[in-house]
Amino acid sequence: MKVEILGSGGSFTIPRPGCGCRICREARQKGLPYSRTGPSLFVHGPNVLIDTPEEAKEQLDRSRVKKLAGCFYSHWHGDHVMGRRVWWSLNYDFQHTIPQHRTTTIYLPEQVAADFRTNLGSWQHLSALEEQGLVKLVVLKEGARIELSGVRITPFPLAEGYVYGFLFEQRDRKLVIVPDDMFRWRPDESLRGADLAILPMGVAEFNPLTGRRRMGKRHPVLADEATFEDTIEIVRQLRAKSVVLTHIEEHDGLSYSDLERVAEKLQKRGLNVRFAFDTMKVKV
Ligand SMILES: [Zn+2]
Ligand SMILES: [Zn+2]
Repeated sequence: MKVEILGSGGSFTIPRPGCGCRICREARQKGLPYSRTGPSLFVHGPNVLIDTPEEAKEQLDRSRVKKLAGCFYSHWHGDHVMGRRVWWSLNYDFQHTIPQHRTTTIYLPEQVAADFRTNLGSWQHLSALEEQGLVKLVVLKEGARIELSGVRITPFPLAEGYVYGFLFEQRDRKLVIVPDDMFRWRPDESLRGADLAILPMGVAEFNPLTGRRRMGKRHPVLADEATFEDTIEIVRQLRAKSVVLTHIEEHDGLSYSDLERVAEKLQKRGLNVRFAFDTMKVKV
């Protein structure tokens, strides 16, 4: 298996429109790896896409993705679903009088499907695409797993209940992917010791380079989102051989180079952690 990070940003991508901060100016000037599009990744081997942010079309176009066997959605939040029109762009056949559309299977854990019905019109949109034959919706019961090209994929709920992670297993290889929101999550034993874990970096309540507080103690985001410190605690519990942190937010104020230095610091503390960037590829 090989993971390709299609988008390493979070809810606020980099550059943020109209923003004149140091991070956004540098990203505008230098492009990759400083700029970041919305959260999405592709697992080569089973050829599975996870989530479709606004930039999904452009992300797939610049990627090494040739074959797409299916897509999993992790949760209903806008930064993970708003590129749904990618299914139209990828699969619609305009050439023939009798269209020969392609169809992509979309896997939704039961709770994600329920949330799609009540949030942001995702269910309505995907159902319309299904009626046209562009996607096929498959709702997965809790604990259900899918096998694609010899890789077993098991979605699992995090502590928050509405958000899912994914365990990929191929012979002795194990990959854990958590796209977002690890608030109060404690990984269970079956997920520990993976070859690679891809996790959201969490909110930088403190600057990880200086230790200085960046956010007020009562900032509302701290009431329901994992911080970078929480993430590092989860990294310790997971004991994965290698970790890539992604879902990197503009408002955390950390550039690609800053994060390279944070990774160095963590590696000195014995944690094999790197930070994702758009187009990054990691073998499992
Ligand atoms: Zn997100
Ligand atoms: Zn900015």
